[in-house]
Amino acid sequence: MRSSQFRFYGQLNDFLPPALRQRTVCYRYSGSPGLRDAIQSQGVPHTEVELVLVDGVALGFDFNLSGGERVSVYPRFKAFELQAGRLGPAPLTVPRFILDVHLGKLCRYLRLLGFDTAYGNDFEDSHIIDRSLAERRIILTRDLGILKQVRVQYGYFIRATDPDCQIEEVLQAFELMARCRPLSRCINCNGEVEQVAKSQVASRLPDGTRRSYQLFYQCRTCGQVYWRGAHYARLMQKLARLRLSP
Ligand SMILES: [Zn+2]
Repeated sequence: MRSSQFRFYGQLNDFLPPALRQRTVCYRYSGSPGLRDAIQSQGVPHTEVELVLVDGVALGFDFNLSGGERVSVYPRFKAFELQAGRLGPAPLTVPRFILDVHLGKLCRYLRLLGFDTAYGNDFEDSHIIDRSLAERRIILTRDLGILKQVRVQYGYFIRATDPDCQIEEVLQAFELMARCRPLSRCINCNGEVEQVAKSQVASRLPDGTRRSYQLFYQCRTCGQVYWRGAHYARLMQKLARLRLSP
């Protein structure tokens, strides 16, 4: 049996048992595991890791441990500011997402704020990974099993369980506040939404809405009509609070 000393930094500690957080731990193994396997077998998905130093030298996930090394593992600090030479794929310039089947409410929030978000309550893991790679979408999930798959390049583990907290977490983790474009994307189908004349949609509106609102928006794909109603107002209040928070 061999061993190496591991230290995980920052939010990577979220994935460790409480007793092993914020300290150097002895990782025991047989054979000569690669860094990716060694890190993931301790609970941390490789998608969360930006930099690994082995005895002070930055190395890739394919480096094999042989015993006695000191390994420092650092998290991704900002998803859109990955530095050259760091682990992981090329940085994304446009935030696009694909969500696992349990994150339907988060999907609605992201679309309401204008983010291109793929979601289906029947998406298999393999489909989510394939589309993430083909369309350069970040996988958002609370399923560590997906993120630990070697094929996954862009992934983020959602810590929060409440959708109201999840949207805050995503906006902050990816620094998306300035990129929010409310009412630019359809909540139902992810299509693009554009402003339309009231006369074009008036016949489809409830009486109260027709009397109270003047600005209307419509999905180019499915035809869904939107206006700045109570739900929209609540979301804007939430955003305003986030902007004010440190
Ligand atoms: Zn639509």
